[in-house]
Amino acid sequence: MLELSTIDTAVGRRDLLNDLQEGIWVADGQSRIAFANTALARVLGLASAELLVGRSWRELLPASEATRLGRARPGTDVATAADTMLLGRDGRHVAVRLVLSRRTAGKQPITIGSVTPANAPASASESEVSGATCRQVMENAVDGICVIEQGKTAFANRRFEELTGYTATQVQHLGLDRLISARDRRIIAPLMTQPGQLMSPVHHEVRIVHRSGHELDCELRIVPVESDGRPMLLCFIRDVSQLKQAEQSRNDVVAMLSHDLRTPLAAIKEAMSLLSETAAPRLEDRQRRYLTIAREEIDRLNRMIDNLVEATRMEAGKVVLRLDAVDLAEVLSSAIESLSLLINKRNVSVERNIPTRLPQILGDRDRLLRVLNNVLDNALKYSPVGGTIRVEIKFVDPKAAVLTGNGILPNTGYVQVTISDQGPGIPAEFLDRIFGKFERVDPYGPGIGLGLAIVKSIVEMHHGSVWAQSNLGEGASFNFILPIKENT
Ligand code: ADP
Repeated sequence: MLELSTIDTAVGRRDLLNDLQEGIWVADGQSRIAFANTALARVLGLASAELLVGRSWRELLPASEATRLGRARPGTDVATAADTMLLGRDGRHVAVRLVLSRRTAGKQPITIGSVTPANAPASASESEVSGATCRQVMENAVDGICVIEQGKTAFANRRFEELTGYTATQVQHLGLDRLISARDRRIIAPLMTQPGQLMSPVHHEVRIVHRSGHELDCELRIVPVESDGRPMLLCFIRDVSQLKQAEQSRNDVVAMLSHDLRTPLAAIKEAMSLLSETAAPRLEDRQRRYLTIAREEIDRLNRMIDNLVEATRMEAGKVVLRLDAVDLAEVLSSAIESLSLLINKRNVSVERNIPTRLPQILGDRDRLLRVLNNVLDNALKYSPVGGTIRVEIKFVDPKAAVLTGNGILPNTGYVQVTISDQGPGIPAEFLDRIFGKFERVDPYGPGIGLGLAIVKSIVEMHHGSVWAQSNLGEGASFNFILPIKENT
C-alpha cells in the first residue's frame, strides 16, 4: 500500500482534499485505494471515506465500464476523462464525470481518480451551451447518433443516415433493431423492449445492414439517459469495417507466415539434432558450440512464432481454455527443461521454493506452460551471466488485497507464483505498461513486446491476476496468482 507521505507529495495535503467539492481517490500500482476524500464518500452515498481504503478503484465501476476505461490505458501524466457510472451504496449507479490520471510519486506508480457528479456543470460556460449548439454538435459528429424513446427513433444525425442509407424520417419508422443484422439483433432486442432495464452504458460489436443490403461492421454504444423524467437511449454507431479488414489481413499474414516458417524450422531443428547426435564425437569444442548456438536460435525463433500466433488467436477471440487439474510444479519443470540450453549458456542457476503439498490448479496446462516460458525467458534474457533466478510458489492469504481485484473468484483458494531475477529491473512507470501489446522499456532492445501481453491474457482468463515489481538496478519480479482446483 502507498505511504501516506507519498500521497501528500502527489496530490497535496490530504486534509485540504477533504474540503473539495470534487471526489478524489489515490490508488497504488495494484489499483488499491490508499486515500479517498469525504466528497467521494458523499457522491457514492457511503458513511465514511475510510470504507473505500484498500478496495480496488476498478470495483467502483460497473464491469463494462471498468473494461472500457481499463483499455484506455492512460500513460504517464495523461488523464482520461469519461462520463461514466460509479457503483454507490447498495449497487446504485451514480452518473459521474471521471478523470483518471496516472503518475509516479516517489518512484511508485499511482492512479488518481477525480469525480464530479454528472449533473453538476463543470463550469458556467459549459452550462450555457444552448440546445441549438447541442444539436449542431450531434449533427456534425463523426459517429452515427440516434436517440431512442419508447422503442422509436426520435432523432438520427447525418452520419447515422450515411451509415444506414435511410433518411432520419425513414429511420423513425424502422427502429434500431431492424437496422442491425439478424445475427446480432438478439443482443439489443431486450434493450429496445425494456429500455428501463439498462442501468449503465453498454458496448457491442454489431453489423449494421445498409439499405443496399450490404453489412457494415460497427461498434455500438448505448447509453441510458433521462430527459424531463423520460427514459431514453442514446446510441452511438462507429464504422469499424476498415479496422476490421486491416485486422483480418494482418491475422491472415501472421497465420500464413507462421505456418510457412514453422515447417522449414522444424526440418532444420531435426537436421541439427541428428547432426549433433551423429557427428558430436568427431567435432571440436568450437564446432560443437556453433551447433548449440544454432539450436538455441531455432528455439528462440519457435517461441517468437508461437507468441505471434497466440497473440493473433487471442485478438480474434479464438482462444478457449481446456481446463483440467494441473500440477504447477510439473509445468515449471517442463518450462525450465525447454529453456535448458539458454540456462546453461548463461550459466544461470534456477532456485525453486515450492511447498511439498502443492494443490493442483484448475487450468489449461499448455497455456500455463506458455506463461511460465514467457516469464522465465525474460528473466533469463535480462539476468547477468552467472546470476540466479528464484521461483517461489506459495499459498495466497485469503485476506490478501490481491484477492479483491477484478475477475478473481470469490471464496476460492489461490496460489501465487513469483519469478525474480537479478537483471537491470524495470522503471516504475513501465511496471503496468509492459503488459500491453508491443510495449517495451527499450524500444530497440530484444524481443517484440508480446510475451507479457499473452501472459496477462492467459492469467486473467484463468481468473487470476499478474503484476510486476522492481527496484531499478536490483532486478525484477513477476507475480501471478491462479485458483486452486476445488477438492484437491
Ligand atoms: P519482449 O520480451 O518480446 O520484448 P515482453 O512482453 O515479454 O516482450 O516484455 C516486454 C518488455 O518488458 C521487455 O521488452 C522489457 O523491456 C520488459 N521486461 C520484461 N521482463 C523483464 C525482466 N525480467 N527484466 C527487465 N525488463 C523486463
